[in-house]
Order: sequence, then structure tokens, then C-alpha cells
Amino acid sequence: MSGLVLVIEDEVDLATTLEYNLRAEGFQVRLAHNGRQGIAAATTDPLPDVIVLDLMLPDLSGTEICRRLREGDRTRDVPVIMCTAKGEEIDRVVGFEVGADDYVVKPFSVRELVLRIRAQLRRRSQRAEGEPSMIRFGRLEIDRDAHRAWVDRAEVSLTALEFRLLHQFLSRRGRVQTRDTLLSDVWGIDADVTTRTVDTHVKRLREKLGDAGAYIETLRGVGYRFKSEPDEVSEQTA
Ligand code: CA
Repeated sequence: MSGLVLVIEDEVDLATTLEYNLRAEGFQVRLAHNGRQGIAAATTDPLPDVIVLDLMLPDLSGTEICRRLREGDRTRDVPVIMCTAKGEEIDRVVGFEVGADDYVVKPFSVRELVLRIRAQLRRRSQRAEGEPSMIRFGRLEIDRDAHRAWVDRAEVSLTALEFRLLHQFLSRRGRVQTRDTLLSDVWGIDADVTTRTVDTHVKRLREKLGDAGAYIETLRGVGYRFKSEPDEVSEQTA
């Protein structure tokens, strides 16, 4: 799978290493070394398919850049993978406030970044094709119209809310889902529930899914992530 990756990173050595490795993986690469350059590069034709964005840049912060990209008509839907240092506020970065699609924590391996870039590209192409009612993912199968789910062909009895939760996870597979995002999208933003409620329901959903429950990964302090591929090896499971 190829695509144009825009890397916005002020550490020149790291940017150059990423450029070299991503090209070796078959991607086209565009580099920007500060925020203003980055925004210009994000809106230059051909538009990038994925943006890898460093959180700490000399002129504009990664969060500010991400916000601006989300406001721009041409850049709104371009997936953003944020590079953060340990201890930075990942939940804020991937939550509503900023809107990054995924993140990697420095120091990260090129392999991990490539997996995440591929997951974003796959998600984009799936969305473009329009999804049918039946979704299959490994041993899991759901019928979105009939609101039914099966694991290893045996039907699983889910409440309406559990089904919505599962559907949300599946349709955003490979992406980080913060508790706040889930609360708003599954329960509705006005619902009088806490993030602890999300954990309780995810736990119950996992139990009902049995072996397929392992597709839902817990990201400590952040939320959840449904695997992008059934056989994907967990790298961030807490
Ligand atoms: Ca930096």
C-alpha cells in the first residue's frame, strides 16, 4: 500500500531517518521542519494521504496545527498521527479537543509507525468504498442493519447499547477511542454518565465476545483501540 506521507518534525535527524525508512517501505514522503511549513505542505497538491505530526515544534504546537487542519475544507479528513513524548497529555491530543486519529510515543520504532500509517490508509480506502451491512473481522461478524453479532458463527446476545459500542469500535478500527469520544458518540453528549460507565460496558462487551474480546485493546489512561487487523500484535495494550 503506497501513499504520500507528510512528516512535520523539527528534529532534522529524526525527520531524515523517517523519510529514508518510509521511502524504503514504498511511501512517498514530504518533509516540513516547522509548523508553518507543515500547514503549507498539508495544503499543497497533491494532498498528503497521512500526516505524521510532532507535538512539540518551535513555532506552532502540534495541537494547534491539528486544530487548523481539522478546520480546513481540504485537510479535514486527512488522518493525523501525532508523535508525543512520554507523559504528554495523550488523551487531549487524540480526544475531541484536537482530533488526531492516532499517536505514537517517542522513541517509537519505524515499524510501529509504518503499521499505524497503513492502518490509517486502509481505513480511508474502506470508507471510500462504502461499507455493506455485514462486517467481518476475524472471528467476529456483525450485521449493521439487523443489529446482530456473531463470534465463530454463534450469535452473541447484545443490548442495543452494547451493539452501538461494538459498531463504533469496528467502524473506527485501528483508531484510538478516548472514553470521552465514546461517551459522546455512543451514549450522546448529554447523557448523565461518567467515563467509568464506559469502562463497565466495555468490560461486559468484552466478556460477551469471548475470544473476540481481545480485539479491543485498553490504552492505559487514554481509552480503547479496536485492532486494525484481527491478527495484529498488540503493542500498546496496558
Ligand atoms: Ca520536536
